[in-house]
Amino acid sequence: MVTESPRLTRFIYVLHGNHHEYPRDKQRLFMPPVPSLILASAIFGAQYIFLRQFTFMFFPGFLLGYLIYGSMHYAIHAWNPPFRFMKPLWRNHHLHHYKSEDKGFGVSSAFWDRVFGTFFNLEKEKEDKEKVKSLMFDK
Ligand SMILES: [Zn+2]
Ligand SMILES: [Zn+2]
Repeated sequence: MVTESPRLTRFIYVLHGNHHEYPRDKQRLFMPPVPSLILASAIFGAQYIFLRQFTFMFFPGFLLGYLIYGSMHYAIHAWNPPFRFMKPLWRNHHLHHYKSEDKGFGVSSAFWDRVFGTFFNLEKEKEDKEKVKSLMFDK
């Protein structure tokens, strides 16, 4: 997101930019518990306004989706892909870090990158092993 507002710039940095600056810092992948609880409560409240009792079905799915996304992101920075078919997701995110921040937004799925045309052409992109290494957590 591009903005001139210093407050918004700071907000975006706290949510996402800091991970680009410190991709190897495990502490910056999941939001800490207290802000998570505050944000989750606000999201629950917003969903409840529209969905009423269905929120009790929708919200757990929403949280599960977020946790899967977060865990995938962690795995992408921690290990090699466990299955061959997952390799494109790993490469897509690594390229998002070191090649272009304007592409490869999908972490747990490439679906929206394919819809919006922001998926890297993985056949044309060479894998830079040194740069990938610089994104991985210490073992
Ligand atoms: Zn990342
Ligand atoms: Zn990013």
